[in-house]
Amino acid sequence: MSTFRFQALRKATDRKPVHVEELDRKSVIFGSNVFGDKAMRQFLTTEAYKAVKAAAEGVKIDRKIADYIALGMKEWALSKGVTHYTHWFQPLTGTTAEKHDAFFETFPDGSDPVEKFGGSQLVQQEPDASSFPNGGIRNTFEARGYTAWDPTSPAFIFGTTLCIPTVFVSYTGEALDNKTPLLRALHAIDESATEVAKYFDKNVKKVTPTLGWEQEYFLVDSALASSRPDLLATGRTLLGHTAAKGQQLDDHYFGSIPTRVLTYMRDLENECMLLGIPVKTRHNEVAPNQFELAPIFEETNLAVDHNSLLMDVMQKVAERHDFKVLFHEKPFKGVNGSGKHNNWSLATDTGINLLSPGKTPMSNLQFLTFFINTIKAVHDYEELLRASIASASNDHRLGANEAPPAIISVFIGDALSKVLDELEGVSKGKLSPEEKTDLKLNVVGKLPDVMLDNTDRNRTSPFAFTGNKFEFRAVGSSANCAVSMTTLNTIVAKQLKDFKNEVDALIEKNDLKKDEAIFNVLREYIKNTKAILFEGDGYSEAWEKEAKKRGLSNHKTTPQALKAKVSKKAVEVFGEMGVMNPVEVESRYEIELEEYVKKIQIEGRVLADIARNHVVPTAIKYQNVLIENVKGLKEIFGKDFEKVAKEQIKLIKEISEHIEGINTKVEKMTEERKKANALTSTEKMADAYCDKVKPYFEEIRYHADKLELLVDDELWTLTKYRELLFTK
Ligand code: ADP
Ligand code: MG
Repeated sequence: MSTFRFQALRKATDRKPVHVEELDRKSVIFGSNVFGDKAMRQFLTTEAYKAVKAAAEGVKIDRKIADYIALGMKEWALSKGVTHYTHWFQPLTGTTAEKHDAFFETFPDGSDPVEKFGGSQLVQQEPDASSFPNGGIRNTFEARGYTAWDPTSPAFIFGTTLCIPTVFVSYTGEALDNKTPLLRALHAIDESATEVAKYFDKNVKKVTPTLGWEQEYFLVDSALASSRPDLLATGRTLLGHTAAKGQQLDDHYFGSIPTRVLTYMRDLENECMLLGIPVKTRHNEVAPNQFELAPIFEETNLAVDHNSLLMDVMQKVAERHDFKVLFHEKPFKGVNGSGKHNNWSLATDTGINLLSPGKTPMSNLQFLTFFINTIKAVHDYEELLRASIASASNDHRLGANEAPPAIISVFIGDALSKVLDELEGVSKGKLSPEEKTDLKLNVVGKLPDVMLDNTDRNRTSPFAFTGNKFEFRAVGSSANCAVSMTTLNTIVAKQLKDFKNEVDALIEKNDLKKDEAIFNVLREYIKNTKAILFEGDGYSEAWEKEAKKRGLSNHKTTPQALKAKVSKKAVEVFGEMGVMNPVEVESRYEIELEEYVKKIQIEGRVLADIARNHVVPTAIKYQNVLIENVKGLKEIFGKDFEKVAKEQIKLIKEISEHIEGINTKVEKMTEERKKANALTSTEKMADAYCDKVKPYFEEIRYHADKLELLVDDELWTLTKYRELLFTK
């Protein structure tokens, strides 16, 4: 079997970069496969065009107009060689789903076939939804859910298929996907943020949350990936001794991009341009064979769709280049894992970034208002935010002394910390004229200068302010951004709503001026949210202790972390903001626990398989070689053989010990799995898999990795770390 490994290595080393067709300038090809503004103007009647625009603002489209829109969309798609259409959605599996139907249609009377696509097919479809996770919302025998067009995210062409972004809901109206709650959360924050923004500018009519994600990933040659059953089945290596050279020399980060990889990136960027995904940045990441790609930020719903689409496209383009993309948060032990930083801010329809300090004291007060309210929201809902990024794979980062920690804290930098200190000193109630002048001149007036110096960036913070946006860094690389974005926007929406009520109450009851009331409320927030602010090293043990004192949560595992999703507080906030009802909240909890159980279960099975069926037989083979050798030495040296065969005998014993280690641990793990499987509550099952099954992984790995160092390289069947990480 080791021949498989060597064949794969031969294949991988012989590869040449694939030729990539040069397309026109990016600005020319951008969005040419998207049914965006330009295509709509060209292919739709004015009435239909206006209807799509209005639909994006929530106005219902009538049937007849839908027919016209579908007609235009079809003509556009046909002009680009498209044959099929699909509703494209994001079920709770975390990935995307599609079912293609041909435009092609025949007639019962035998007349000539045609390409058809009507309003009803555009607006609504009924996929056979019984095999998507629903957490008990839909009984399987009903199996009725439907997808409905999301006019806020434009249709696009991938390959020869027209893809229509849709939501996925049950017939009783509950969300079965990631997009529906996200859209509701975006609506909620628009409402509350607009109200607050009106304190500063009456003309603001809409606030749009923006998202710029940064996607980290590993690339492995596809032949090498295929030679590792664990990579194929679980997305990560369950075994493998760390390579002698890893990332110690820091020679990969921002280094020159290997040619084969660069060719892949160019091909991928071309595809992204056609799909209207505004990718901008590409570079090597810290670990060998790890890379990053980032776009220009966009409206959040579109950015989330684009990230999901991108992950799909990345894998497809990789096939052309004989690569496999690893999105797993920790594919390799001993080198950095991957994340997906979510850069988030709020933009008004008047063109203002609400998290960017302005030029006047008033616009700076506006900045501070949104800035401090975000901190307050994270402070009040830190556990829920932690829960929003929990997954079996992200546990390898958050729970394992690696970037970033499982404790949620906010980094704001020295300069802003000082500003908050000063604001905390504002007197209660009415402000004296002197105090007002002082605030204007020295606190809110000086912000822009202060901000310029604020260049220090804390890489260990899970939630950092970076000049004109917050960066949620703890999101996992394989995650669908919708989950974290739904949570963040919901809690900030709730916070801004409360803020507005408090300020209005002060104005009314205490007869304060608007800015006095705002200062008063902000001062209290600053006082009460100190626990969440942290400027130091987030990976240190000292911080764990300190955070505990401050009462911050530190959930290192998914089953622990997820509990916050169904807390009274969570159910209330999602309900109050109209994002999810209790049934939806509960079902998601159930689905995520189930997913956790399945992931660990699969890892356990795969690990047992490769440890027993690859590692142990290989070790025995090598042990037999040693035994033959010892026998031969005995023949030659007679009773003196023990001296010359000393090392071999030691090795034979060591190998036996590790084989025994593997076998007993695998048996014990299997026992624990059986016990866990017999449990009836998903919650208990997840706990059992986490606390009883998973700990064996490291123990089994220990013996297998030791054997890797003992056994003849020629015999070893599993492609090694140095080969996976350094073959370019
Ligand atoms: P770094 O890696 O240093 O954090 P990058 O330049 O890689 O910085 O990433 C910055 C990301 O932040 C980009 O994806 C960018 O589009 C995004 N971004 C910038 N401004 C905003 C904003 N106002 N709202 C949301 N995202 C933003
Ligand atoms: Mg970054």
